[in-house]
Amino acid sequence: MNIAIAGAGIAGGYLAKLLGQKGISPDIYDGMDHDTRCRCRSCGWGVPRSVEPYLAEVGLDFSDYLLESMPSMNFDELVASTPLCTLDKPKLIRDFTKDIQVEKRNLSHDEEGDYDVVVDATGITRALLPPCRSDLTLPTLQQRVAVEQFGSERLRAGVYGNCIPGLGYLWVFPLGDNIYHIGIGGIGLTRLDTLLDRFYSNLSEDFSFTTICSCHGSVRVASPYYSTPFSVTKTRKSGSPQVIVGVGESIGTVTPFTGEGIIHSLECAKIFADTWPDYQRYASSVLARFAWMKKERETLDYFLSQEGRNGPRIRDRWRFYRNARRSGIGLPMVEAFRHLGALTQWVEGPDKGI
Ligand SMILES: Cc1cc2nc3c(=O)[nH]c(=O)nc-3n(C[C@H](O)[C@H](O)[C@H](O)COP(=O)(O)OP(=O)(O)OC[C@H]3O[C@@H](n4cnc5c(N)ncnc54)[C@H](O)[C@@H]3O)c2cc1C
Repeated sequence: MNIAIAGAGIAGGYLAKLLGQKGISPDIYDGMDHDTRCRCRSCGWGVPRSVEPYLAEVGLDFSDYLLESMPSMNFDELVASTPLCTLDKPKLIRDFTKDIQVEKRNLSHDEEGDYDVVVDATGITRALLPPCRSDLTLPTLQQRVAVEQFGSERLRAGVYGNCIPGLGYLWVFPLGDNIYHIGIGGIGLTRLDTLLDRFYSNLSEDFSFTTICSCHGSVRVASPYYSTPFSVTKTRKSGSPQVIVGVGESIGTVTPFTGEGIIHSLECAKIFADTWPDYQRYASSVLARFAWMKKERETLDYFLSQEGRNGPRIRDRWRFYRNARRSGIGLPMVEAFRHLGALTQWVEGPDKGI
């Protein structure tokens, strides 16, 4: 069977490695045409430490990629313990495909027909599959900045919702050596750069920020359930069937509340490799495994509706709390109900002084 993987990011690169372990050698294509300094798609590089076994599975050592741990983080005014850290994602992606030939171009429609199976691992682009049945994407702006502290306190890692109007949040992820990823994601926000500038200026008595690079992006927060179909079968000119099947963010394996997609895309690729070549079992396993994402998406839809202006319902608060617990973030339940996430802040505090 002839297989191609379009996209050598987190999902495609990892899948190539997993299939290689099964003796399957797909052809891999990636134009890597990203307008970023790191040559990768815009990303904060934050992951939970539970990513470790996924790397071990393909013989990689988590500690070779660890940039900085975030044992505690600021969630608006609340400090909570976390298992999160930042990883050198570009290095990880390079190492996934180190021993594999990657065609440094996108898979063309002419070439597509050469393959019995084409994996769409093109992330937000979803270049080969038909559109999601109900897509939802969150525009982002992220900067890599060098931070100089004037006092004794370092800039703390954090996620902030109360300085962002609308449905969105700002993140501060340390990358080591006083370099940080600071970014904003928000639906319906047109002034992401102004909001970032305001964040810097609010902290200007304690820190100076020097921008190293800046990139716009977008993350799919639709959830897998609303990102179907996961696969389509086509008939080629020769009359033989061809399957196009999605893996990773192309089929929505991203936490809708937080935009966290690295670990879920690794898991999605693992499900693909474990169920290969049974696409139905793959689809039902992905839908079952990430069923909670559907609920988070439904909360986002609620907030985006007129009705959502009435504030979070009990079920929305419960989903925020569950989200934090799932990520291993040590927020007490009552505080989580009150504070957790930009979204609650969004409806409870429309006047954020912006
Ligand atoms: C600003 C921002 C910050 C984020 N921060 C985090 C974070 O801190 N932690 C986290 O877990 N997640 C984060 N995410 C989400 C995370 O980056 C993605 O969910 C994750 O990388 C998805 O992996 P993927 O392999 O499915 O897609 P990608 O990593 O996007 O890889 C897709 C690949 O496909 C290639 N490609 C595109 N079109 C074609 C084509 N036609 N042919 C061939 N190749 C193609 C691209 O070049 C790319 O290399 C963030 C996203 C954004 C936008």
